[in-house]
Order: sequence, then C-alpha cells, then structure tokens
Amino acid sequence: AYCGCKEEGLARYTESVCRLCRRENLKLFLKGERCYTDKCAIERRNYPPGEHGQGRPKFSAYSIQLREKQKVKRMYGLLENQFRRTFAQAARTKGITGETLLVLLERRLDNVAYRLGFASSRAEARTLVRHGHILVNGKKVNIPSYFVRAGDVVSVRERSRQMARVLTAMEGAQRRGVPEWAELDRDACSGRIRLLPTRSDVTMPINEKLIVELYSK
Ligand code: SF4
Repeated sequence: AYCGCKEEGLARYTESVCRLCRRENLKLFLKGERCYTDKCAIERRNYPPGEHGQGRPKFSAYSIQLREKQKVKRMYGLLENQFRRTFAQAARTKGITGETLLVLLERRLDNVAYRLGFASSRAEARTLVRHGHILVNGKKVNIPSYFVRAGDVVSVRERSRQMARVLTAMEGAQRRGVPEWAELDRDACSGRIRLLPTRSDVTMPINEKLIVELYSK
C-alpha cells in the first residue's frame, strides 16, 4: 500500500514555496501577487530545485502518479494526512472518485475565500479563516476544511474588511475573476455560492486519475 510518510518530512512553512512550483514544473500560485510578476521563480528558473534538478527526469508510472498527487496537494496547501482524508471521503461518495476529490478541495472554505478574492493565496486565506475573519451565513467559521454548500454566503467580518491585506487581495483578485459557481458583492466583501463547483470549474492542468491510481496501490 502507498504510504505518504516520507513526504511529511518536508515542513510546509520552512521551505520556500517557490521550490514546490519548480518541483512540479507548474505555477501553483502560492505567493499571491508575486506569482503574477517577473519575480516568479518559475519564470526565472524553470527546472526542478536541488542538486539533481537539471538531471534526467524520472518517468516511472509511480513517479508520474506521485508528482500529480503532490502537485494537487501543494496547490491546495494540504499536508499528506489531510489530503488523504479528503481522498477517503471522495472514495466513500457516490460518483467518480477523482472528480469528487477535486470538487471537495474546491469546496473548502479557505479555497472559497481565496477564489472570492478575500486573500492573495490559499495560505493567506487559511490564516484569515483560522483567525476568525471569515463568516459563513453571518456566523464565524474558523475551520479551513469546512465544505461550503450551495446557497451559503461567505463574507469577510465587517471589522476585518479594512485590513490592508484584505484590501490588497481584493484589488489584485480582480484579474483572477470570480468562478462561475459564485457571485461576489465586492463592496460588501461577500460572495454567495450559487451552485456547487464541478470538475470543469477546475481549470488547472490536473489528471486526477493518476492520484486515484496512486492511492489504489
Ligand atoms: Fe509559484 Fe508563485 Fe513562486 Fe511563481 S511566484 S514559483 S507561481 S509560488
């Protein structure tokens, strides 16, 4: 059986997150505004980090599946056990497991706060949620893994709306746009989930079948 314990050695907060993008050879947009500038490490050094970064890449089935899982896990900023739990939930749900996994990741409150533009990155959105700045249907929810439902209204708490990082994020997020499944009232820092996201709303290049194959070993 596949075990992700080796990867847990990588501390999420001590490693430069740009290394993660270079490892996956893809912009994962982990650093907010910087990702849209020419300071982006992927624009500057587009090869994997480390001593063997420019060596021959590995193409075994396992390494391809592993890279796909790491890419998605890092994109949403989850640790292995959190990602694994979400996968298990997707596997228990009726439907196509890989697609359900991506939909569950999109429904996370930290992701929704990021998608609505309240934060410049998912990591920043997670901090906003944890610190109680985000409300769901008018009530504080400080659990980043909370899954939003259709009809929920996600907003920034009134007294947090003038925070510099929220204002900067809201301004920068205009270029990202708001996903089809949500509608945003920018002035009220509030977004309504019109419908649940679907697989086709996840536009990053992801082959989720590889993740299912990896975890089915
Ligand atoms: Fe990734 Fe953003 Fe760093 Fe570019 S700037 S490598 S997209 S985290």
